[in-house]
Amino acid sequence: AHLARIEAVDERVGAFLTVTKEEALARAAEQDRKLAAGEPLGALSGVPVAVKDNICTKGVRTTCASKMLHNFTPPYDATVADKLREAGAVMVGKTNMDEFAMGSSCETSHFKKTHNPRDLECVPGGSSGGSAAAVAAGEVPLALGSDTGGSIRQPAALCGVVGLKPTYGAVSRYGLVAFASSLDQIGPFARTADDTALLLDAIKGRDTHDATSAHREQAPVAGTLDGNVKGLRIGIPQAYYGDGVDDAVKTQVLDTARALEQAGAALVDVSLSSTRYALPTYYILACAEASSNLARFDGVKYGYRTEHYDDLLSLYENSRSEGFGDEVKRRIMLGTFVLSSGYYDAYYHKAKLTQNLIRGEYDAAFGACDVILTPTSPVTAFKIGERTADPLQMYAADICTVPVNIAGLPAVSLPCGEVDGLPVGLQFIGRKFEERTILNAAKAVE
Ligand code: GLN
Repeated sequence: AHLARIEAVDERVGAFLTVTKEEALARAAEQDRKLAAGEPLGALSGVPVAVKDNICTKGVRTTCASKMLHNFTPPYDATVADKLREAGAVMVGKTNMDEFAMGSSCETSHFKKTHNPRDLECVPGGSSGGSAAAVAAGEVPLALGSDTGGSIRQPAALCGVVGLKPTYGAVSRYGLVAFASSLDQIGPFARTADDTALLLDAIKGRDTHDATSAHREQAPVAGTLDGNVKGLRIGIPQAYYGDGVDDAVKTQVLDTARALEQAGAALVDVSLSSTRYALPTYYILACAEASSNLARFDGVKYGYRTEHYDDLLSLYENSRSEGFGDEVKRRIMLGTFVLSSGYYDAYYHKAKLTQNLIRGEYDAAFGACDVILTPTSPVTAFKIGERTADPLQMYAADICTVPVNIAGLPAVSLPCGEVDGLPVGLQFIGRKFEERTILNAAKAVE
């Protein structure tokens, strides 16, 4: 049924770069066989899942929506792909994204644009726009994305679905093509908080292949949510409701806050004033790490290789000039600049200091509250092409989401009403490893 739905709508939505029909039917048949034989089934047995195209899948092309990896078929599975298989899930394909996960609209993909299923003239958000759109269009009930500065939560908000960025270290990054390794996390998209918990439980946990994977037991969340918010202290940080956040978006989010108060939660003011440093901090750290991570794409080992070269240097230069798109090049140049000798202290080092400031403020805020409630995106879905001319305007779309990655915290975005027919997303931010608390708050809103 889901493959039929993909065939019927994906020409218009454009969520998928690859549909793995044959493999999906084979995996589904295997689950049927297990069911018939009375063998034990995994928690996601037979459930179709879409996977963002920066997550390595053995034998299935993994492009990061870049010309650089247009021909790359990984010889191994990412840990999350392994875990999906173990849980009995059926991967149906790989989803479109901004090139190397750099962007907020899915428009920097080398291959195509994805359209927002709620209004096909609008962007789905990004960078995991394909995964969000696939869930919103009913092509799959579950999808995986990655979130370095908002790439799960912002498209979830713009498409009207649920998206969770887990605590840094909760989910293995092994096999995720690295963008900014100290910020990247893989996480779930779904239609409800309960479904989000099911997919989170399937992918989380310690992995010896990822040195940043957390050494701790993570209790199952699925089946524990009751949506009870009695006594829950919800922090409202003024810094997230300032200029630049659309009034209609603010109103929807604050109305929801008052409804939660009616249900027994307590609203408390918290101060997160260093939020004003979050965007510059993020774009310095993320670009610095990206410039280093993307050095591996040299036209030699794998991926795109230019046809025009006469020595090693021109092989590197031309492969990278032809293989990367404009946004990726911009980030590599910014990142190389902020790491260069003479500028390192002024930019990179300073960004590490403001990162500490931001972390400290969250710690203090969580002394006074249990979750923090903010809008996910300052605006609802914008028109395709509307923001591509000015990169800074595109970066501003991330103001509510990037501080969470800088602090390594978990956060979930879920729909709360509409403005002019387009979904509004709200975000609950939690303490480290308190995914259950924020998903339970999300359930209360549903
Ligand atoms: N939009 C942000 C950026 O362009 C976040 C991307 C992400 O989370 N992968 O960097």
